[in-house]
This record gives sequence, structure tokens and C-alpha cells, in this order.
Amino acid sequence: MDWETPAHRALLRAGVIEACREGHEWYVRALDDKAGIQHAYAIATNMVRKGEVPGSRREFIAFVAETLEQIPVRCPICEAADQVL
Ligand SMILES: [Zn+2]
Repeated sequence: MDWETPAHRALLRAGVIEACREGHEWYVRALDDKAGIQHAYAIATNMVRKGEVPGSRREFIAFVAETLEQIPVRCPICEAADQVL
């Protein structure tokens, strides 16, 4: 997906988020535990070390945390469809 950022990639690789299973252009939270988020931060740290993302580790981790906060638990399009039924 072209709107995927490196922060999304870290969260996807950790399995913390996933694309909507109905194929909508939304990411949703796949799991919401501390271990998963720590895993995402570890992946993010590696991405900075490998030079896959610019900037410092601290900046990128903050960006990953901010990105996760904006990801809904349920896909808004699926939710709207459920309300119509
Ligand atoms: Zn959906």
C-alpha cells in the first residue's frame, strides 16, 4: 500500500497491526499487548541501525508509537457497514 510508512512496516512486521481483512485501505490493531509493542520497538531499532529509516532511534520509536495511537481497533469502513445492516 502506497500510504504505508516505515512506522507501519515496523508494526506490521511485529504483528501489532494488520490490513483490514475485508480489503479496505485501513490498518487495524491485530493485538494490543505490551510484548507485541516491545517487539515492534525492537524491529524499529533494527531498522534505524540498518539505515532503513533516517533520523535517530528515539525519533523513530516516537513516530512508531504515534502511528500506533492513530490506528483504530476496528476498520471504520467495516464499522460503518455494520451500522447500515
Ligand atoms: Zn474494513
